[in-house]
Amino acid sequence: MAIQTVLGPIEKRELGFCHAHEHIFLAEGPHTKVNPALRIDDFHKSCQELVSFKRVGGKAVVDAQPIGCGRMADALVAAALQTGVHIVASTGFHKFINYETDHWLFSMDTTSLFELFCQEIRHGMFINADTQPPLESIDAKAGAIKTAIDEDRMEDSSKKWFEAAAEASVVTGVPIICHTESAEQGMYLAEFYLKRGVVPGNIIICHLDRTLVDVNLHREIASLGVYVEYDTIGRFKYHDDVGEARLIAQMIEWGFERSILMGLDTTRERLKSYGGNIGLGYIVQKFIPLMRSLGIPDKPIRRMVVENPAEAFSVKLGAERVEVF
Ligand SMILES: [Zn+2]
Repeated sequence: MAIQTVLGPIEKRELGFCHAHEHIFLAEGPHTKVNPALRIDDFHKSCQELVSFKRVGGKAVVDAQPIGCGRMADALVAAALQTGVHIVASTGFHKFINYETDHWLFSMDTTSLFELFCQEIRHGMFINADTQPPLESIDAKAGAIKTAIDEDRMEDSSKKWFEAAAEASVVTGVPIICHTESAEQGMYLAEFYLKRGVVPGNIIICHLDRTLVDVNLHREIASLGVYVEYDTIGRFKYHDDVGEARLIAQMIEWGFERSILMGLDTTRERLKSYGGNIGLGYIVQKFIPLMRSLGIPDKPIRRMVVENPAEAFSVKLGAERVEVF
């Protein structure tokens, strides 16, 4: 089934080289007060970055910013139109720290969160909803559900946010992108979603490569049939690229080349068009040559950056629940 981009559905074969986790735009808000490097709100510069990505063979990106915390849905649509890069946008929710304490999202119950996510996937995304409840929407639809777990949310016994995301994925068939801060949280969340009937191929566990010590846990997570996303490439405060490439080589050796997705999870300070020194071309220009130099063949490389994202972001409905949007 198709992949839902901001310009409408496309076939899997049309997606091409894809970064599974990026931030193309991010408006000012509580998150940028915590870290100003997160603000990415210059339309021209973001388009420039997408154009240089396209020049090196990039075809598609997934923007992982959800509703209500700096997502710029209308800018994503305009950028996709202007640059020709496929963009998949996200509904869902982020870490608590990314919202003011009186944010409208906090007053929603499981059902209203579920309805909100479905609305954004089936009918169109809301705009101008960072500081006020969602009233205004555009035609462009979300193609993924972002969810974020951290220590705070592990302690939140209601788990209403995750229940709502699980049900929205089950009925719409779009994948869930899971921000995690440890492999243990990744395992917890994968099992949580699987228990609620989410299709394994609709679960993407992000940031597992922030530390490279839990490789056996990566193997266990991938064994559940979910995707493991390596998006800490070129983030040297965590580790160097050689360690990252070795981790990937190990996972491939264990037979998980179909389970791996890649991205840069970029911030303003790493985007070249904003004056940074990594840029969206980094995986093609630096990381793929490094993987090759360490003996990783082209076939699994292509799988991880072309075929796996096409499969991961396609709409997948479980056997007994067939509803189409
Ligand atoms: Zn991110």
